[in-house]
Amino acid sequence: ARKFFVGGNYKMNPATKSAADGLVKLLNEAQVKGDVDIVVAPPALYLLPIRDALKTQHVQVSAQNCYLKDSGAFTGEISPAQLADAGIPYVILGHSERRTIFHESSEFVAQKTRAALDKGLTIILCVGETLAEREAGKTTAVVQSQLEPVVKLLQESEWNKIVIAYEPVWAIGTGKVATSQQAQETHAEVRAWLAKSVSSKVAQETRIIYGGSVTGASCRELAAQPDVDGFLVGGASLKPEFVDICNAQA
Ligand code: 13P
Repeated sequence: ARKFFVGGNYKMNPATKSAADGLVKLLNEAQVKGDVDIVVAPPALYLLPIRDALKTQHVQVSAQNCYLKDSGAFTGEISPAQLADAGIPYVILGHSERRTIFHESSEFVAQKTRAALDKGLTIILCVGETLAEREAGKTTAVVQSQLEPVVKLLQESEWNKIVIAYEPVWAIGTGKVATSQQAQETHAEVRAWLAKSVSSKVAQETRIIYGGSVTGASCRELAAQPDVDGFLVGGASLKPEFVDICNAQA
């Protein structure tokens, strides 16, 4: 069975360090039930203080992005080597905000995934279609085209270091959560495609988590779907209900 996985993507939040301390307190006091990997992704500035202030074994930290070189003249970037050296185990790559606002192509995301794997990081790899793409019936094609460059650069044995986050762009930050049927359908398609493109073992074992307006109210029905292995949570990861989402399958 695939272990349930809940990520909290803080994005460029919270606005102050003292608010970030409040989020650590929430996590340290959380009653986590069941077997779940919980990973929070604060802004890079807060990664180490948050990691060091977390008292619970249940919660690990993730970067929200990284570059592909080890070091050098790349102003504003963080390298996978630096993350690994600092003991940061996870990195989110390919988030729709990176793809859209910062113009990251699927090939670039794949190269960064390769570089992060080479340093031993686990990657939360985000994919997802826009509303126009969904309405044009292109959801499957879009998600596959985002995954294809990654498949080309990975060995089969490396997929245990990848968590796929299906995040339909129209659901991110809009309050329009995908229905459990929509999420299940796309997750099942991604899994079937992995079976064809990589192997049935990888398809069976890779966690595919859902992101996009997940709340304490919507998480249980989504978590009950057979191919929904957890969540990547934005806005609600900054609120006490994040703990309810962590317990969605318990
Ligand atoms: P929201 O939960 O705020 O919609 O954000 C989802 C997301 O982008 C997580 O990476």
